[in-house]
Amino acid sequence: MINAKGYAADTPTTNLAPWNFKRREVGPLDVQFDILYCGVCHSDLHQIRNEWFAGIFPMVPGHEIVGKVVKVGKQVTKFNIGDLAAVGCLVDSCRTCDNCKVGLEQYCLNGGVGTYNSRAKDGTPTYGGYSNTIVVHQDFVLSVSEKLSLPAVAPLLCAGITTYSPLRYWKVGKGHKLAVLGLGGLGHMGVKFGVAFGAEVTVLSTSASKEDDAKKLGAHKFIVTSDSKQTKNVKGYFDFILDTVSAPHDFKLYLSMLKTNGTHIMVGIPPEPNRVPTFSLMDGRKSLAASGIGGLPETQEMLDYCAEHNIVSDIEMIDIKDIHKAYDRMVKGDVRYRFVIDMATL
Ligand code: NAP
Ligand code: ZN
Ligand code: ZN
Repeated sequence: MINAKGYAADTPTTNLAPWNFKRREVGPLDVQFDILYCGVCHSDLHQIRNEWFAGIFPMVPGHEIVGKVVKVGKQVTKFNIGDLAAVGCLVDSCRTCDNCKVGLEQYCLNGGVGTYNSRAKDGTPTYGGYSNTIVVHQDFVLSVSEKLSLPAVAPLLCAGITTYSPLRYWKVGKGHKLAVLGLGGLGHMGVKFGVAFGAEVTVLSTSASKEDDAKKLGAHKFIVTSDSKQTKNVKGYFDFILDTVSAPHDFKLYLSMLKTNGTHIMVGIPPEPNRVPTFSLMDGRKSLAASGIGGLPETQEMLDYCAEHNIVSDIEMIDIKDIHKAYDRMVKGDVRYRFVIDMATL
């Protein structure tokens, strides 16, 4: 076994603290890489606090992982020692179901294996990227271009693919009016991709102070959702809403902003089930949909697209000891626009 160190939550009510643990030996098809940076996703906080379901503790969160390969198994063909490598939210899946066969491992019918708070096929818990090193089957390790700033690439592994995938699936682009609801980690990537794909992008935000940032990110319009004068102007306006909100929110208000036949795509996952008035959907034959991260082929496609178009996340680098200060700011919506842990501080 390989000695590893990281930050773990012992229980859902305790804060993360340093923890030593073991990773599996590098198997014939495994890649081991030393983690240089790990992004901080709101899902990390939802999970260490058991906000979605009862988790597996101790829990080492983190699924926006980038680093440098230090060891490869004998049969590994995709990576060499010294290569940059990345891992997102998945480290394994059944590989045989209808979804896995077409690269939709995130929807594995037999349940994929999450990077943390999950169990590998042998039943052992998985531990995430708030740690110094990781061992993953080469099929679930992604290649990263040397061209981009590595810490700013880390958030692409979750915030990036989670927004890229639905925008691609619904073919959002030229001629579409896209609203991005919530300007946080996911939201700011949704803006960047929406703009890159040619849509007219409007940010719907609770934070008036984010207007200048939204425009710098490329958004064409900005609306403060608590200002009814502003929201009235976009009644029946959008083809799509990409909803990244992590807390309960008012679907009646947002659905009223969709055109007839418009689609409200949820990627945010509030702890409680959403309350959606049927009337708000019926009035204009609107669709409510949701999308989860992305499969391995599409995640690589997104990373390659970002390298080609020079797209990275806007980040604030933190020391790992400050992780709870970062969570507190994230909960207040004060994230600009993704915290990334410098793993050298571990
Ligand atoms: P984040 O950085 O905290 O961003 C969420 C943003 O939502 C906030 O910055 C804030 O933006 C807005 N917001 C927060 N509370 C709100 C409220 N009560 N009403 C309206 N808006 C509110 O979080 P994130 O990392 O982007 O993650 C967002 C959500 O997506 C989380 O629930 C996370 O678990 C989920 N997620 C889902 C997937 C998936 O596969 N579907 C993948 C990753 C994450 P403003 O200040 O602009 O209002
Ligand atoms: Zn995430
Ligand atoms: Zn499967």
